Amino acid sequence: MKLFWRLFLSYALVIVLTVVALLLLTEVFASSFIRHHVAQMVQVMGPDGRSLQGDLTQGMRTTLTGALLIAAPLALLVAFLAASVASGRVVRAVRQLSEGSRAVASGEYRSRLPEQGQDELTDLARNFNRMAASLAAVEASRTELISTVAHELRTPMTALRGYAEGLNDGVLPQETAARGVLRETQAMERLVRDLSLVSRVEAGAVDLFLQDVDVQALLLAAEERFAPLAVSRDVRLDFRLAPKSCVYTDPERAAQILANLLGNALKYTPAGGQVHVWAEFRAPHVCIHVQDSGPGLTAEDQGRIFERFYRVDPSRSRMAGGSGVGLTVARGLARVMGGDVTVRAELGEGSTFSFTLPHSPVSSGEVAL
Ligand code: ADP
Repeated sequence: MKLFWRLFLSYALVIVLTVVALLLLTEVFASSFIRHHVAQMVQVMGPDGRSLQGDLTQGMRTTLTGALLIAAPLALLVAFLAASVASGRVVRAVRQLSEGSRAVASGEYRSRLPEQGQDELTDLARNFNRMAASLAAVEASRTELISTVAHELRTPMTALRGYAEGLNDGVLPQETAARGVLRETQAMERLVRDLSLVSRVEAGAVDLFLQDVDVQALLLAAEERFAPLAVSRDVRLDFRLAPKSCVYTDPERAAQILANLLGNALKYTPAGGQVHVWAEFRAPHVCIHVQDSGPGLTAEDQGRIFERFYRVDPSRSRMAGGSGVGLTVARGLARVMGGDVTVRAELGEGSTFSFTLPHSPVSSGEVAL
């Protein structure tokens, strides 16, 4: 049976039962009520009134029954109309929801339901619209991701094809081709590895081995790792070691965040420049700063560099071996560990990237690096 008729019949049943109950109650109570009042009237009227007692009782009962016979059908009619309107509204809302979900199921994420009113049906429509909007956003980012990845892969693939053709035509020395092929495959490997990490970070699926980590040890390990690169790029790398403090973090992931920030600072700072690294305690976090004397960033770029594949200068970033997701990974990792990565920069004045990690109250933590 259709929902409309089910609702309508259940309303109708309630209405009919109410009317029947009303008639029965009237029959039971009204009779004794009328008899009581007529007896009082007859007493007041004296001996003459006694002959009128039967007529009076009958007259009052007839009037009451007549009034009920007119009022009951009218009330029934109004009640049935109201029941039909109420059932129609519920059925209309359910039908719209059903059509809307069918549209969303077939990929039509722009489908929306009207949101008029303040009741639970409007709440349902509002929640449905929110769900459709978030599905649309997920679909848009999926499409964008596929097209960006395709674009990112096209560049190294074109280069690989060029090396293969050069070799084939005998116009490219084997050594040059081999170096080129190695560089491009490394770029593709880095892209695939970073992408997989980004998707795991975004899905909250990174395995973390949280423990107390000594900040000085974290900085010393980074200094040791990046000093040769700084020398080869003619950039002065200066680490200021803070008094001993500990953070509660995954040591490998924390080292990776610092490596991404330091790698960028060295990559984008021209020869003769400087990079400073220091840590400070800012309750309840420890904040590690990486400041460079590189090109800096505009306010707009500062708002966008943490997006996947956003690059201020795409060709320069690619030449420098960037995958375009280093900062996305760094911020995602810092956030899952209870910290964050932020930037302060000005165009032409260098940049300062800061990353925070939860401070651990242990004064001399286990050095896990
Ligand atoms: P990439 O692999 O291209 O370096 P990132 O996500 O690490 O990707 O950085 C995104 C972009 O942010 C870079 O392409 C670069 O334009 C800009 N950027 C990052 N770090 C710096 C920095 N220290 N100075 C200037 N620009 C930077």
